Amino acid sequence: MKIYNSMTRKKEEFIPLEKGKVKMYACGVTVYDLSHIGHARQAIVYSMISEYLRFRGYDVKYVRNYTDVDDKIIKRANELGKNALEFSREQIAETELDMKNLHIKDADVKTKASEYIAKIIDFIQGLIDKGFAYIADNGDVYYIVRNFKGYGKLSNIKIDELLNGVRKDVEEGKRDPLDFALWKSAKEGEIYWDSPWGKGRPGWHIECSTMAYYELGEQIDIHGGGKDLIFPHHEDEIAQSEAYHGKEFSKYWSHCGLVRINGEKMSKSLHNSLTIRDALLKYDYEVIKYVMHSKHYTSDIDLLDKDFALAESQMYYFYTTIKKMKIYIKQFGGDIEGASIKGDISENIIPKFVEVMDDDFNTAAAISELYGIFKYANNIMKSAKKEDRILAANSLAKILDSINKVYTILGLFTQEPDQFINNMKAKYLKKTNITVEEIETKIAKRTEAKKSKDFEMADAIRNELEEKGIILSDTSEGTTWDFKALYNVD
Ligand SMILES: [Zn+2]
Repeated sequence: MKIYNSMTRKKEEFIPLEKGKVKMYACGVTVYDLSHIGHARQAIVYSMISEYLRFRGYDVKYVRNYTDVDDKIIKRANELGKNALEFSREQIAETELDMKNLHIKDADVKTKASEYIAKIIDFIQGLIDKGFAYIADNGDVYYIVRNFKGYGKLSNIKIDELLNGVRKDVEEGKRDPLDFALWKSAKEGEIYWDSPWGKGRPGWHIECSTMAYYELGEQIDIHGGGKDLIFPHHEDEIAQSEAYHGKEFSKYWSHCGLVRINGEKMSKSLHNSLTIRDALLKYDYEVIKYVMHSKHYTSDIDLLDKDFALAESQMYYFYTTIKKMKIYIKQFGGDIEGASIKGDISENIIPKFVEVMDDDFNTAAAISELYGIFKYANNIMKSAKKEDRILAANSLAKILDSINKVYTILGLFTQEPDQFINNMKAKYLKKTNITVEEIETKIAKRTEAKKSKDFEMADAIRNELEEKGIILSDTSEGTTWDFKALYNVD
């Protein structure tokens, strides 16, 4: 199995520190507002990676943190007149609800900075004792960047170049503008904990080094997070953990790409920040995952309305096919143990999935297989000869079984087909501004017209409906209807 390592900037063979086990840490959300779709992508990506590693037989421990003490949280809480921890707890509950509604499988351990304060203090003291940190006169504690030889190795930044970029108005008590805070002394009205250096709270970076250590050990296999965390957050985590333990912190560094919305970076000032909550009002949770997984996790992704519309029509095609497959399997007694139809593709589904996913979790390639699979399923349902129908049903059962075994790792096809189909129909009915009753009345009128050979009238009704986005198909069981927008796949 191969995984891209941001440290070496290469795809590498994945060999965990301990055979069969994977220790993975991913930086989670700083909870000062509702989580947005970028947070969702990161959670979806690392959940997918941990689930796939499990599927490949690894014993995985996946830790994800919540930053619940931080400048932004304190600022927001003060504006709202709330206690900072009470506020961040409320925000965590909101995020948990969003992640649940997205049906994202949780990390094995979810940590909060505020619950590790004593351990964070120990870690900082260790860094002071080892000569990597100092206590400033005001009670802040700073990390001495120049004392850590490997500083800049992840982000490929040279210390001297860095000096050009940092603010020269050095914070009070800081000896070198490069140094970063491990502990911040409490200002008036700020939340604090007691420490050997006075009242204060941890800096951001130290919490991840500490929580990774206590939950996973001195060294971990995979450290993940959004690309925007490479510098300074992950660079600083490396400096802290490697100075403290004298060992390589993480064997592989993994970063997922950033999310833009309709061509623009999400930002508060542009008012285009898409919260998970708003995204879920607009789109089905599997459609969101489908769009996310349609791009490789390391790439930035631009979420365009048309991509969601395309994903909806594709997922609709897949789910309507699954529904037909289930009916067919039931009708002809399909069984996964039974003999397959000639040319059956069911045995290729899992090996193909594994082949592309073993190549740095290439979900985009895995998703691009789906259309061919469902097209094949539709074809055999349409064309199997009478005497082959049991074999066809067996093959369909095997296809569904294989899809369930692997595509659920991507969070897809976890619903009953009718649930997805009906939700999508309800959504598109709203869009088309027509009711089911109106459609059915028109279809009945058209059937009458056809019976009395008034083909002009029949065609006029068909055209009228088509203009409204409804297409009709005449089948042996009568006329069925569907949404044009959802039916552009097959
Ligand atoms: Zn972190």
